Amino acid sequence: MSATRGLIADVIRFSAVDGPGNRFVVFLQGCDFNCLACHNPHTIPAGSRAARWRTVPELVAQVRATAPFLSGVTVSGGEATRQSEFLRDFFAALHENEQLARLTRYVDSNGDAPRSVWDTLLPVLDKAMIDLKALDPDLHIRLTGRPNDHVLHSIRHLAAHGKLHEVRLLLIPGVNDDDRTLTATAAWLRDVDAGIRVKVIGFRQHGVRAAGRRWPEATPEQVAGWADTLSAAGLTGIDAI
Ligand code: SF4
Repeated sequence: MSATRGLIADVIRFSAVDGPGNRFVVFLQGCDFNCLACHNPHTIPAGSRAARWRTVPELVAQVRATAPFLSGVTVSGGEATRQSEFLRDFFAALHENEQLARLTRYVDSNGDAPRSVWDTLLPVLDKAMIDLKALDPDLHIRLTGRPNDHVLHSIRHLAAHGKLHEVRLLLIPGVNDDDRTLTATAAWLRDVDAGIRVKVIGFRQHGVRAAGRRWPEATPEQVAGWADTLSAAGLTGIDAI
Protein backbone atom coordinates (compact mmCIF):
# COMPACT_ATOMS: atom_id res chain seq x y z
CA MET A 1 0.00 0.00 0.00
CA SER A 2 1.23 3.49 -0.86
CA ALA A 3 2.88 5.40 1.98
CA THR A 4 1.92 8.78 0.47
CA ARG A 5 1.19 11.28 3.22
CA GLY A 6 -1.71 13.72 3.40
CA LEU A 7 -2.09 16.76 5.63
CA ILE A 8 -5.34 16.19 7.49
CA ALA A 9 -7.28 18.99 9.17
CA ASP A 10 -9.85 16.69 10.75
CA VAL A 11 -11.62 13.36 10.53
CA ILE A 12 -15.26 12.57 11.31
CA ARG A 13 -16.00 8.87 11.82
CA PHE A 14 -19.75 9.10 11.11
CA SER A 15 -21.49 11.77 9.09
CA ALA A 16 -24.93 11.76 7.50
CA VAL A 17 -24.49 15.08 5.65
CA ASP A 18 -21.40 14.52 3.49
CA GLY A 19 -22.89 12.30 0.81
CA PRO A 20 -25.32 9.37 0.82
CA GLY A 21 -25.65 7.14 3.88
CA ASN A 22 -23.32 7.03 6.84
CA ARG A 23 -19.85 8.25 5.90
CA PHE A 24 -16.31 8.49 7.21
CA VAL A 25 -15.16 12.00 6.28
CA VAL A 26 -11.59 13.25 5.88
CA PHE A 27 -11.02 17.01 5.76
CA LEU A 28 -7.74 17.82 4.02
CA GLN A 29 -5.82 20.95 4.99
CA GLY A 30 -5.39 23.75 2.46
CA CYS A 31 -7.67 25.45 -0.07
CA ASP A 32 -6.99 27.54 -3.15
CA PHE A 33 -10.16 29.59 -2.60
CA ASN A 34 -10.64 32.15 0.15
CA CYS A 35 -14.42 32.27 0.37
CA LEU A 36 -15.95 35.03 2.44
CA ALA A 37 -18.71 32.57 3.36
CA CYS A 38 -16.33 29.75 4.41
CA HIS A 39 -17.53 27.90 7.53
CA ASN A 40 -14.12 26.31 8.16
CA PRO A 41 -11.57 29.08 7.48
CA HIS A 42 -8.93 27.27 9.57
CA THR A 43 -8.70 24.72 6.74
CA ILE A 44 -7.74 27.34 4.11
CA PRO A 45 -3.98 27.82 4.85
CA ALA A 46 -1.66 25.25 3.27
CA GLY A 47 -0.30 24.51 6.74
CA SER A 48 -1.71 24.61 10.25
CA ARG A 49 -0.40 23.64 13.69
CA ALA A 50 -3.62 21.72 14.28
CA ALA A 51 -3.32 19.68 11.06
CA ARG A 52 -1.63 16.26 11.12
CA TRP A 53 0.29 14.30 8.47
CA ARG A 54 -1.12 10.81 7.96
CA THR A 55 -0.02 8.04 5.60
CA VAL A 56 -2.48 6.11 3.46
CA PRO A 57 -2.14 2.93 5.61
CA GLU A 58 -2.78 4.93 8.80
CA LEU A 59 -5.97 6.42 7.39
CA VAL A 60 -7.13 3.11 5.93
CA ALA A 61 -6.71 1.53 9.40
CA GLN A 62 -8.98 4.24 10.84
CA VAL A 63 -11.63 3.52 8.20
CA ARG A 64 -11.38 -0.23 8.85
CA ALA A 65 -12.16 0.29 12.54
CA THR A 66 -15.61 1.71 11.73
CA ALA A 67 -16.25 0.07 8.35
CA PRO A 68 -19.14 -2.23 9.45
CA PHE A 69 -21.22 0.87 10.17
CA LEU A 70 -20.32 2.85 7.04
CA SER A 71 -21.81 3.29 3.57
CA GLY A 72 -18.80 5.13 2.26
CA VAL A 73 -15.90 7.53 2.60
CA THR A 74 -15.90 11.21 1.62
CA VAL A 75 -12.81 13.36 1.25
CA SER A 76 -13.50 17.05 1.76
CA GLY A 77 -11.48 20.07 2.82
CA GLY A 78 -10.11 22.63 2.54
CA GLU A 79 -9.94 21.48 -1.04
CA ALA A 80 -9.52 17.75 -1.45
CA THR A 81 -8.03 17.86 -4.97
CA ARG A 82 -5.07 20.00 -3.86
CA GLN A 83 -3.59 16.79 -2.42
CA SER A 84 -4.60 14.74 -5.45
CA GLU A 85 -1.80 12.19 -5.20
CA PHE A 86 -2.72 11.33 -1.63
CA LEU A 87 -6.43 11.32 -2.52
CA ARG A 88 -5.85 8.94 -5.44
CA ASP A 89 -3.67 6.59 -3.38
CA PHE A 90 -6.11 6.60 -0.45
CA PHE A 91 -9.08 5.75 -2.69
CA ALA A 92 -7.04 3.13 -4.55
CA ALA A 93 -6.12 1.49 -1.24
CA LEU A 94 -9.79 1.38 -0.18
CA HIS A 95 -10.79 -0.01 -3.57
CA GLU A 96 -8.13 -2.74 -3.44
CA ASN A 97 -8.95 -3.80 0.13
CA GLU A 98 -11.28 -6.80 0.21
CA GLN A 99 -13.11 -5.59 3.33
CA LEU A 100 -13.38 -1.95 2.27
CA ALA A 101 -14.03 -2.16 -1.48
CA ARG A 102 -17.82 -2.01 -0.93
CA LEU A 103 -17.53 1.50 0.58
CA THR A 104 -18.38 4.23 -1.93
CA ARG A 105 -15.65 6.85 -2.46
CA TYR A 106 -16.83 10.44 -2.81
CA VAL A 107 -15.07 13.80 -3.09
CA ASP A 108 -16.55 17.07 -1.86
CA SER A 109 -14.75 19.74 -3.92
CA ASN A 110 -14.83 23.39 -4.91
CA GLY A 111 -14.19 22.14 -8.46
CA ASP A 112 -11.05 24.22 -9.00
CA ALA A 113 -9.03 21.34 -10.40
CA PRO A 114 -7.81 20.92 -13.98
CA ARG A 115 -9.03 18.06 -16.12
CA SER A 116 -5.71 16.25 -15.68
CA VAL A 117 -6.34 15.93 -11.93
CA TRP A 118 -9.85 14.56 -12.43
CA ASP A 119 -8.53 12.10 -15.00
CA THR A 120 -6.12 10.61 -12.47
CA LEU A 121 -8.95 10.36 -9.92
CA LEU A 122 -11.74 9.00 -12.13
CA PRO A 123 -10.63 5.33 -11.99
CA VAL A 124 -10.84 5.27 -8.16
CA LEU A 125 -13.61 7.82 -7.55
CA ASP A 126 -17.29 6.90 -7.38
CA LYS A 127 -18.80 10.39 -7.35
CA ALA A 128 -18.00 14.04 -6.71
CA MET A 129 -20.03 16.80 -5.10
CA ILE A 130 -19.07 20.17 -6.56
CA ASP A 131 -19.77 23.64 -5.15
CA LEU A 132 -20.78 26.28 -7.67
CA LYS A 133 -20.35 29.53 -5.76
CA ALA A 134 -21.44 31.71 -8.70
CA LEU A 135 -21.96 31.26 -12.43
CA ASP A 136 -20.96 34.86 -13.14
CA PRO A 137 -17.12 35.02 -13.32
CA ASP A 138 -16.83 38.43 -11.65
CA LEU A 139 -19.14 37.53 -8.79
CA HIS A 140 -17.24 34.25 -8.37
CA ILE A 141 -13.98 36.15 -7.96
CA ARG A 142 -15.59 38.52 -5.45
CA LEU A 143 -16.90 35.59 -3.39
CA THR A 144 -13.88 33.27 -3.57
CA GLY A 145 -10.86 35.22 -4.81
CA ARG A 146 -10.55 32.89 -7.84
CA PRO A 147 -12.11 32.54 -11.31
CA ASN A 148 -14.64 29.79 -11.98
CA ASP A 149 -13.49 28.41 -15.33
CA HIS A 150 -12.05 25.22 -13.79
CA VAL A 151 -15.22 24.80 -11.73
CA LEU A 152 -17.49 24.92 -14.77
CA HIS A 153 -15.24 22.54 -16.71
CA SER A 154 -15.12 20.16 -13.73
CA ILE A 155 -18.91 19.98 -13.53
CA ARG A 156 -19.21 19.20 -17.24
CA HIS A 157 -16.33 16.71 -17.22
CA LEU A 158 -17.59 14.78 -14.19
CA ALA A 159 -21.16 14.71 -15.52
CA ALA A 160 -19.92 13.42 -18.89
CA HIS A 161 -18.22 10.52 -17.08
CA GLY A 162 -21.20 9.72 -14.85
CA LYS A 163 -19.21 10.79 -11.78
CA LEU A 164 -21.17 13.86 -10.67
CA HIS A 165 -23.27 13.21 -7.57
CA GLU A 166 -24.58 16.77 -7.15
CA VAL A 167 -23.85 20.46 -7.57
CA ARG A 168 -24.17 22.54 -4.44
CA LEU A 169 -25.38 26.13 -4.58
CA LEU A 170 -24.69 28.20 -1.47
CA LEU A 171 -27.12 31.09 -1.76
CA ILE A 172 -26.63 34.31 0.17
CA PRO A 173 -29.54 36.75 0.49
CA GLY A 174 -28.90 39.87 -1.57
CA VAL A 175 -25.63 38.52 -3.00
CA ASN A 176 -26.27 35.66 -5.44
CA ASP A 177 -29.99 34.92 -5.07
CA ASP A 178 -31.78 37.24 -7.53
CA ASP A 179 -34.16 35.63 -10.03
CA ARG A 180 -31.97 36.48 -13.04
CA THR A 181 -28.92 34.82 -11.47
CA LEU A 182 -30.90 31.74 -10.46
CA THR A 183 -32.55 31.41 -13.86
CA ALA A 184 -29.19 31.73 -15.67
CA THR A 185 -27.63 29.17 -13.31
CA ALA A 186 -30.52 26.75 -13.87
CA ALA A 187 -30.20 27.13 -17.65
CA TRP A 188 -26.46 26.38 -17.51
CA LEU A 189 -26.96 23.34 -15.27
CA ARG A 190 -29.81 22.08 -17.45
CA ASP A 191 -27.50 22.25 -20.41
CA VAL A 192 -25.03 20.00 -18.56
CA ASP A 193 -27.73 17.50 -17.62
CA ALA A 194 -31.47 18.13 -17.39
CA GLY A 195 -31.77 15.72 -14.45
CA ILE A 196 -28.73 17.02 -12.56
CA ARG A 197 -28.98 16.85 -8.76
CA VAL A 198 -28.74 20.30 -7.21
CA LYS A 199 -28.55 21.00 -3.49
CA VAL A 200 -29.66 24.48 -2.47
CA ILE A 201 -27.97 25.56 0.75
CA GLY A 202 -29.00 28.74 2.55
CA PHE A 203 -26.18 30.87 3.96
CA ARG A 204 -25.48 30.56 7.71
CA GLN A 205 -23.09 32.73 9.69
CA HIS A 206 -21.75 29.92 11.91
CA GLY A 207 -17.92 29.82 11.75
CA VAL A 208 -17.76 32.55 9.09
CA ARG A 209 -15.18 35.35 9.40
CA ALA A 210 -16.24 38.94 10.09
CA ALA A 211 -16.22 39.96 6.41
CA GLY A 212 -18.89 37.36 5.66
CA ARG A 213 -20.95 37.90 8.79
CA ARG A 214 -22.20 41.20 7.40
CA TRP A 215 -24.50 39.13 5.19
CA PRO A 216 -27.88 38.04 6.61
CA GLU A 217 -28.64 34.37 7.15
CA ALA A 218 -31.12 32.75 4.77
CA THR A 219 -34.59 32.03 6.12
CA PRO A 220 -36.39 28.74 5.39
CA GLU A 221 -38.88 30.72 3.29
CA GLN A 222 -36.06 32.15 1.15
CA VAL A 223 -34.52 28.70 0.64
CA ALA A 224 -37.92 27.30 -0.41
CA GLY A 225 -38.43 30.25 -2.77
CA TRP A 226 -35.00 29.74 -4.39
CA ALA A 227 -35.80 26.04 -4.88
CA ASP A 228 -39.11 26.99 -6.51
CA THR A 229 -37.37 29.45 -8.85
CA LEU A 230 -34.82 26.83 -9.91
CA SER A 231 -37.56 24.25 -10.42
CA ALA A 232 -39.61 26.70 -12.48
CA ALA A 233 -36.49 27.21 -14.62
CA GLY A 234 -36.55 23.50 -15.47
CA LEU A 235 -34.30 21.76 -12.91
CA THR A 236 -35.92 18.57 -11.66
CA GLY A 237 -33.42 17.29 -9.11
CA ILE A 238 -33.59 20.02 -6.45
CA ASP A 239 -32.92 19.34 -2.80
CA ALA A 240 -33.10 22.33 -0.44
CA ILE A 241 -31.65 22.58 3.07
S1 SF4 B 1 -13.81 26.32 -1.17
FE1 SF4 B 1 -14.69 25.57 0.74
S2 SF4 B 1 -12.95 25.27 2.15
FE2 SF4 B 1 -12.23 26.55 0.43
S3 SF4 B 1 -12.46 28.64 1.18
FE3 SF4 B 1 -14.31 28.12 0.01
S4 SF4 B 1 -15.79 27.34 1.53
FE4 SF4 B 1 -13.73 27.34 2.50
